[in-house]
Amino acid sequence: MIIQLTIITPGSTMTRDPRFDLLFTPLKIGPVTAPNRFYQVPHCSGMGHERPHTLAAMRGMKAEGGWGVVNTEYYTIHPTSDDAPYPIQTLWDDADIRQHALMTEAVHRHGALAGVELFLGGARMANMNSRLPPMSLTSMPVLTGDPLQTKELDRQDIADIRQWHVDAAKRAVTAGFDIVYVYACHHYLLHGFLGRENQRTDEYGGSPENRARIVRELLAEVKNAVGHKCAIALCWSSNSELAEDQDDWLEMTRSLDGLPDIWDLTVNDYSIEMGPSRFVKEGALEDQVGAIRKIVSGPIVTVGRYTSPDSMLRLVKSGIADFVGAARPSIADPFLPNKIRDGRFDDIRECIGCNICYAHNSRSVPIRCTQNATMGEEWREGWHPEIITRDAPGDRVLVIGAGPAGLEAARVLGARGYDVALAEKSRQPGGRVSLESSLPGLREWARVRDWRLGQIAKMQNVELFLESEMSADDVRDFGAAHVVCATGSHWRRDGVGRSLRKPVLSPSPAIVAPEEIMRGNLPSGPVAIYDDDGYYLAAGLADKLREAGHEVHFVTSAGVVAPWMSYTGDQAATHAHLLAQGIICHFNKTLCAFTPGRLELDCLYGGAGSVLEVASLVPVTARQPETTLFDLLQADGTRLAGAGIKSLTRIGDAEAPGIIAHAVYAGYRFARQLGLATDHPATRRDRGMGLAAAQ
Ligand code: ADP
Ligand code: SF4
Repeated sequence: MIIQLTIITPGSTMTRDPRFDLLFTPLKIGPVTAPNRFYQVPHCSGMGHERPHTLAAMRGMKAEGGWGVVNTEYYTIHPTSDDAPYPIQTLWDDADIRQHALMTEAVHRHGALAGVELFLGGARMANMNSRLPPMSLTSMPVLTGDPLQTKELDRQDIADIRQWHVDAAKRAVTAGFDIVYVYACHHYLLHGFLGRENQRTDEYGGSPENRARIVRELLAEVKNAVGHKCAIALCWSSNSELAEDQDDWLEMTRSLDGLPDIWDLTVNDYSIEMGPSRFVKEGALEDQVGAIRKIVSGPIVTVGRYTSPDSMLRLVKSGIADFVGAARPSIADPFLPNKIRDGRFDDIRECIGCNICYAHNSRSVPIRCTQNATMGEEWREGWHPEIITRDAPGDRVLVIGAGPAGLEAARVLGARGYDVALAEKSRQPGGRVSLESSLPGLREWARVRDWRLGQIAKMQNVELFLESEMSADDVRDFGAAHVVCATGSHWRRDGVGRSLRKPVLSPSPAIVAPEEIMRGNLPSGPVAIYDDDGYYLAAGLADKLREAGHEVHFVTSAGVVAPWMSYTGDQAATHAHLLAQGIICHFNKTLCAFTPGRLELDCLYGGAGSVLEVASLVPVTARQPETTLFDLLQADGTRLAGAGIKSLTRIGDAEAPGIIAHAVYAGYRFARQLGLATDHPATRRDRGMGLAAAQ
């Protein structure tokens, strides 16, 4: 297959389809005007106040890509709200202003508005760094799981909260922000006032009017302080979660009409607001937001993981919202608005809804993205999601394996101008992505493969060869200057994994590899899946086997289903889903022995062992990197050199099995750095404001 490359630069002036003009119409928000309807809502970055240059470069990239409004994540406004050990952003005092100005300047450089979300976390904070008591309406255990209770707010605390908001808003204006948020959602401090659980007997509790008082006061006071220069946004839930509280909720909402300059409407439950694609599809909040549209008059922004230009247009045209809100779609493709502007619809890199971005904030490191390898690396690496310098010497590169690592490497090498051959042994490209996206709910993950195939298909200098398994002789005969093995990995069938370092399973046809199930070769039931991996795969396989009508036992070394999914935000939903499907779960187990009909398990904590009568076993424990080809080539350096091969590299799962985002990143990094003398990425460190000038 030989295909054509069209390189479009970010400043491209291709013609816009007039159908989308509405999305490019400016709109006034209080005293400021947004240049278009693309609004990056506040979203976590994992960068924190320790990495201001990293953050500014990332947010600035969104503005460069056409987002008309670019917000921060939540910024805590007082040390009584300290999110440690997560990397937090602070607006605690004037010393914070300078670093935030980096971000507003980066955003303003491209004509966008910069917004900031003022934040007090209430019982969702444990203040592990500041060591001050967290506050909430009544003294209750903090929701972080730490052995600590909050301090009950007294009258002075409420007065302080009001003053802190005013002070922080003034600092925000000095830092250059154009939009300041009052944040009354997601079970943080202000939200605590709004529900019926607010048992206060003073003017801040009881009736809906009293419960909404603090929000009303803050909107008015912040507006009074900075409203001449800044728009005031309200982050608000479009429903109450409790059906019996819904009328009160609507009454409170109505009573606030006219106070915010813009309503940022969402829902309190993060697992719905930013639910992974497995459970939540595009535009999921439209009905609730549409109901609020009928009772409030100001501009509305709302999210819904919109990646389709038509859905975005429908949202605004229908009047449900005036702005298309986005967090994840702007992470996966910071240039999404400009691509719609330029009519480059098939270049849009659509979010797959895997929540790896959120997971890394949850792991206290800068966010990254499965689809966009440059996310979070704009400053450290100087990577740009759209610009790749065409600097290759024209050498031939052979990429072996068209999984996510190989596809990304081929795309980026092609953009650099290398002559690329991508050889894939199977009939279908995509590697693990093609397999895993066949599991229930993961269809959107195929976008990782499809976007890359679409990009490669435009490149004359990249050829894809399917059904082309490469042997060491084939590689040496090929005539490439550089060879990269992106040959992936396969799941082990001997039981070795995190819990067991030595094999415990003897080979048996009744021990089935996960790949076989994803290929549709289902074993006989009843089936036990043994999960020592802790992420999505075992749960997905269990779901698939159950859908096929098998009795399924989900056996895990963990105490819950898929514990790593607590970082992606869908552990609870996945656990509940397996139970609802009738899958029988067994926790804290290790493998002991298996023969068809009999699976012996040990208790992780030394309790009694148990036996399951199952016909087949699917171990999901660890993967073996597929390095046979690499090892053969590397073993004979003389023949390698004789074949004119200057470099041999392995990347992705063939080097170190990980998540799909690792493979895409590995492909990108390899391709960006081939032939260049590049420092290891971790050497450029964001040293905050203090040492930055010296760098
Ligand atoms: P990664 O996640 O690192 O991209 P994958 O397992 O998704 O890894 O993809 C690896 C791909 O490499 C698979 O599609 C597999 O068919 C292919 N592959 C493995 N060995 C060879 C080989 N010798 N020649 C060509 N393709 C290969
Ligand atoms: Fe979307 Fe996944 Fe990227 Fe997050 S990491 S933006 S969910 S593709």
